Amino acid sequence: MNGDSGLHLVVVPLMAHGHLIPAIDMARLFAERGILVSVVTTPVNASRIRAVIRGIDESGLPIRFVELPFPCAQVGLPEGCEHVDVVPPHLFANFFRATALLRLPLESYLRDHHPRPSCIVADVWLPWTMEVARALRVPRLVCHWISSFAVLCYHNIRRQRVRESISDDSEPFVVPGLPDRIVTTRAQAPGFFDAFGWDDIYAQSVEAEETADGLVLNSFDDLEPSYIDKYREATGKKVWAIGPFCLGNRDRASKAVRGSQASVDGDGCMVWLDSMQPRSVVYVSFGSLTQTQPSQLAEIGEGLEESGSPFIWVIKDRERTPATETWLSGLEGRTKGRGLVITGWAPQALILSHPAIGGFVTHCGWNSALEGVSTGVPMITWPHFADQFLNEKLLVQVLKTAVPIGVEAPITYVFDKAVALVKREDVSKAVRSVMDGGEEGEGRRQRAQELGKKARKAVDEEGGSSQENLTRLLDYVSKLCQAK
Ligand code: UDP
Repeated sequence: MNGDSGLHLVVVPLMAHGHLIPAIDMARLFAERGILVSVVTTPVNASRIRAVIRGIDESGLPIRFVELPFPCAQVGLPEGCEHVDVVPPHLFANFFRATALLRLPLESYLRDHHPRPSCIVADVWLPWTMEVARALRVPRLVCHWISSFAVLCYHNIRRQRVRESISDDSEPFVVPGLPDRIVTTRAQAPGFFDAFGWDDIYAQSVEAEETADGLVLNSFDDLEPSYIDKYREATGKKVWAIGPFCLGNRDRASKAVRGSQASVDGDGCMVWLDSMQPRSVVYVSFGSLTQTQPSQLAEIGEGLEESGSPFIWVIKDRERTPATETWLSGLEGRTKGRGLVITGWAPQALILSHPAIGGFVTHCGWNSALEGVSTGVPMITWPHFADQFLNEKLLVQVLKTAVPIGVEAPITYVFDKAVALVKREDVSKAVRSVMDGGEEGEGRRQRAQELGKKARKAVDEEGGSSQENLTRLLDYVSKLCQAK
């Protein structure tokens, strides 16, 4: 599995599904160009994605996985706490400290192994990778796993010190310097590390971006062209939109295990979808981190039932408590034949690409949003936290391919003991308007399908913008390597 291009890219993602999944997808795109890629991870994360690694090995793509022991004990984390979704909220800062302790082990691994890296392609949330690149005298690109729209909003809000001029978290303000008039609040656009008061990590991640040799976006030129341009202008850096990375999973097998081994039989799911009318099924999932409370789950279930649409609804293992079992089995009985509840990890990429899917209720995590865009489905947006409210604005106001469920205030995924914010009638109304919304709904669907076509063209077709941008990125890295 040696790459034949002479380049060796080292991809370093944060240990969270929303980062690791697109990083591996991106690695596939590099490897398909004959480039050797090393993806840095830890033992627990590697065991979670064993099926993905096996599939890549069998495909012969030149991708290798580097497993660095994660120093849990050194920072007071429980053993095995190597992934964001198992870190107790009060230990988040410790988790980030542990990631920073990977700096020296990574540096010595890269010194001791051949071939020498050509470039480090690092997660913006792992700013210590700056030091590794400096020590090894190799170029470094920074990856954002969020929309260019959100990246630009954060950039402009920070540069213009907007947060400091606002007295209340719910006070609306217009984001400065955008191509469209976008109104948000400090609560809806909280930034990342600064929202937790981790000023040092925040300052480092800003520095990591400012000193990078270039910036990589999981987006494509036709999706948010003026936002990508403005971001390039604002940073004065090379910026390449080379996504959607999810489209790097070209076959059914890689879609079926993407992110993790699914908890349902992918083939069974496909057979169920095959029995449904085209564009008739609504898919409901809130990503890998959010945790929905039992009272909210009940409202969602009843809203889906009331909507009359066939549905696939993903519920996390940890959300299924004795409190949910009685009404859930009642709901499953009443919607038998038209409702499928998946508990645990769903093969989302496989499901969304099935022609029976006609709508997607999403929390607007950028990967999910982009998966919805790539498969051309209109969406119902239900943001929870982080960049999700900004992604909602992109989908609803700029692209006009989604309807909002109507949530205004963020909830953090484990911090709040939230009551049901969204009622069953809100759910059924939003589902009806997306699934059979008359002329307006048809217009939305057509725009979504058009964007889906453009996404696939960008990645799959000769001369597609993401293919061209990837070529430019690789040429640039080759030149930088010659110059160093
Ligand atoms: N995902 C999946 N199956 C699940 C839950 C999530 O395949 O049951 C994938 C989803 O397709 C996406 C990623 O996990 O690629 C979640 O990332 P996103 O940015 O959407 O949200 P986050 O989990 O970071 O909030």
